[in-house]
Amino acid sequence: MKETALRIRTVGDPVLRRKAKTVKTVTDEHRKLLSAMSRMMYESSGIGLAAPQVGVDQALIVVDIGKSLYKLVNPRIVERRGHQSIEEGCLSVPGVSVKVKRSKAVIVEALDDEGKPVRIDCQDLLAIVFQHEIDHLLGKLILDYVPVWKRGLLKKKLQKLKEI
Ligand code: ZN
Repeated sequence: MKETALRIRTVGDPVLRRKAKTVKTVTDEHRKLLSAMSRMMYESSGIGLAAPQVGVDQALIVVDIGKSLYKLVNPRIVERRGHQSIEEGCLSVPGVSVKVKRSKAVIVEALDDEGKPVRIDCQDLLAIVFQHEIDHLLGKLILDYVPVWKRGLLKKKLQKLKEI
């Protein structure tokens, strides 16, 4: 896909609800896409971005909470500990924040952009961002965590976005 075709997709776009495809071999094409995604994340002042959010249904994410940039392929959570929740926002659900119950600490296994296996043991905000971005690869959005009794309150806000 040409970089010029990439743009942030918002709720209502079916690509956000598709399960991303596992990458078999990491190629230059994936490296280019990960770099483009990183630029888009920084330009949007985001701290994470998943490929479906730019219209590509492949298992790629970028994350940077201000310490270092992670470009990951096929990320998955292999261990979880404890709980935490904060109000999360999402570039694909503009203007909405949702308190999401997540694990306090996680271990993520993935490939880096050279195709080498990496294992990341993290907690707090970094763990939240990995869980949020990996949700995108499963077609899941923060809206899915809004309790049913609260959806009425959000409805007005979301009418424009045509979801819930
Ligand atoms: Zn998001």
